[in-house]
Amino acid sequence: MDKIRLATVWLAGCSGCHMSFLDLDEWLFELAAQADMVYSPFVDPKEFPKDVDVVLVEGAVANEENLEIILKVRERSKFLVSFGDCAVTANVPAMRNMLGGTEPVLKRCYLELGDLNNQLPKEKGIVPELLERVMPVHEVVKVDMYIPGCPPSGPRIRDAIAPLLRGEKPKMEGRHMIKFG
Ligand code: SF4
Repeated sequence: MDKIRLATVWLAGCSGCHMSFLDLDEWLFELAAQADMVYSPFVDPKEFPKDVDVVLVEGAVANEENLEIILKVRERSKFLVSFGDCAVTANVPAMRNMLGGTEPVLKRCYLELGDLNNQLPKEKGIVPELLERVMPVHEVVKVDMYIPGCPPSGPRIRDAIAPLLRGEKPKMEGRHMIKFG
């Protein structure tokens, strides 16, 4: 059987979900025998490739760069997995939504909580512009499967993606995976 083309993507998250993935230790050798990792923080390519079979997306959609990436990822991937609570619910990054938009967030961070030379950033384009609201991945693009957890444990990640490596598709009921077959 041909190896599947696997990718992982890191949006607005702490990278803890990716660290949990690495906790799979020896199983990663089995994974390497069944899949080519074509894009990930763990590998070199910087441009998300075409024809990806399975992609795990960690993190919420919080800024213009996240938005651009997730649209490209969806267009180029057959099966998209919302990976960890920040992707599934927006979780920690969405705490800023309580402040009610980009402007109050910037004022709070740079003016009210700054210690020295308090000022708003003047130059545009140095860091990606914040979106007005942080969103979970499924609010922006279609998601095919969810792996909740903060972070999901290594075994949960393994159990969720191992059947995908064999070309099996999970049966879905609403947003919940019920079984593979
Ligand atoms: Fe980090 Fe938890 Fe978010 Fe994963 S779900 S990126 S571990 S905060």
